[in-house]
Amino acid sequence: MTLDFNGRTLELEKAFWTLFPGLCKGCGLCVEKCPVDCIDWSDVLGVYGTPSVEADNRCIACGICQNVCPDCAIRIDKRKKLIN
Ligand code: SF4
Ligand code: SF4
Repeated sequence: MTLDFNGRTLELEKAFWTLFPGLCKGCGLCVEKCPVDCIDWSDVLGVYGTPSVEADNRCIACGICQNVCPDCAIRIDKRKKLIN
């Protein structure tokens, strides 16, 4: 198994959504807490060889997943913040 300590950024409509697979333990807390249910399991493996996660364009860039992840495996950058 190779671990990926680089961020994997998804360019979604409202956010640059970055997951660090080498930090994700696959606990599912972000999946549980996302208010729009836009996070699902990914083919990219996390730190324990379990699936990591990814979001889709339903993301509203609220930042909850970033805040609840116990391992700081998600980073949310709102698009308008970067453009301004
Ligand atoms: S930023 Fe909010 S809406 Fe987007 S994936 Fe995270 S919890 Fe879900
Ligand atoms: S990103 Fe964080 S909260 Fe989500 S499954 Fe991975 S470790 Fe758990």
